[in-house]
Amino acid sequence: MKKPIILFFAFLISTSILGQNIIIKDINIIPMTSNIVIENKSVLIQNGKIKEIGAFKKLPQNKDTKIINGKGKYLMPGLADMHVHLPEENKIEHLLLSNIAAGVTQIRIMNSSIPQTDLREILNNKQLISPKIHYSHLIRRSESYSASQADSLMVEIKNNGISFVKLLSLSDEETFDNLTKSANQYNVTLCGHYPVYQLEGKSVMVDMEKVLNSNFKSIEHLAGYIWLEDEEQIDKAIQLTKEFEIYNCPTLDWDIMSGNLQYPDDYKNRITYQFLPESITKDWESSYLASIEEAGGNEKVMESKNKKLPSFELKRKLLKRLYENDCLLLIGGDAGYDFQADGFNVYEEMMNWKNAGIDNYTILKSATVTPSKFFGEEHLWGTVEIGKNAELIILTKNPLEDIQNITTVETTIIGNEFHLNKELINQL
Ligand SMILES: [Zn+2]
Repeated sequence: MKKPIILFFAFLISTSILGQNIIIKDINIIPMTSNIVIENKSVLIQNGKIKEIGAFKKLPQNKDTKIINGKGKYLMPGLADMHVHLPEENKIEHLLLSNIAAGVTQIRIMNSSIPQTDLREILNNKQLISPKIHYSHLIRRSESYSASQADSLMVEIKNNGISFVKLLSLSDEETFDNLTKSANQYNVTLCGHYPVYQLEGKSVMVDMEKVLNSNFKSIEHLAGYIWLEDEEQIDKAIQLTKEFEIYNCPTLDWDIMSGNLQYPDDYKNRITYQFLPESITKDWESSYLASIEEAGGNEKVMESKNKKLPSFELKRKLLKRLYENDCLLLIGGDAGYDFQADGFNVYEEMMNWKNAGIDNYTILKSATVTPSKFFGEEHLWGTVEIGKNAELIILTKNPLEDIQNITTVETTIIGNEFHLNKELINQL
């Protein structure tokens, strides 16, 4: 039996101007079509789309046109979080709201404790404040697929309108072969954790050239690359990643929080720590400190942290090399630990990328244009251009100048809805 999901509307904190034309007046546009700012233009939104961009006086308007003053502010596409885990049912609404509060307007579901098709049905019936959700079908280690079973799965996924298949873990190599073959035949996106299976008590990694050559569309956590033994293999893998247009979603913040890499004090510098209400951060702190005790206390945690630092360093270097070789990159918040807030963890990951030596424009691209390309939806979202969906954020400072300015998101716009982020944060 399906359990009912209890969700409520957050009406009062947003403005929905149905059917009305909206003009964002005299704003600096970060279009994300290239590394530029178009200064002091006005944007007309009609029926949820960007209808015109130009001088304020030249835009059509009538007495019902709503005008939003953008003077001195910045307008850019809403952000995408490409690595999201769905929590238990009663926390879903909080997750959706938290994403909008952070300016995240698209999320890719990479794990879920509840059946996503059921959830989709329920969410579709409620008009919640929500980013666009890309649902997935998860493959687990307990599942083997013959060629015909893999075919049936892909047909079912297409019929269900699920965006993609995520490999969580793998039973055997034949299953990988069957899944990739069927996914390609039925034009279904297959991506996820690097394919590794257990054989006689040992982990076996599917050959990297084979994986990169199989149209496995994105790889999470830089797995595979970190296990390569020499420079020659890494060079080859990066070359194939570029050639076959494989996306990487590094999720450095997962390494940081799962490995306690910010213990004992650095976590206090986290954006989430400084940004979110004390009611949230206090709870995090006590649960974090309790988890440190549980892991054996100060000395043990420091010891295990120091052991993990070299592989984290290697990940940062791999990210830099993928970036220098123009490979496709995706920002994923991968929130789940204390101090990792849904949506806001995208900011955290952006800071991690900055520390790895990635330039601000590429960081922003990896959370806007590149995700839209991943889904084949670049004609719909990911840039500020005429004809695109009005999925936008207004910031008080320019994140191209300093990536930390991404925290100055003031308004999230989805279609004709305007959400004031400060007010949403107070609801969290
Ligand atoms: Zn994950």
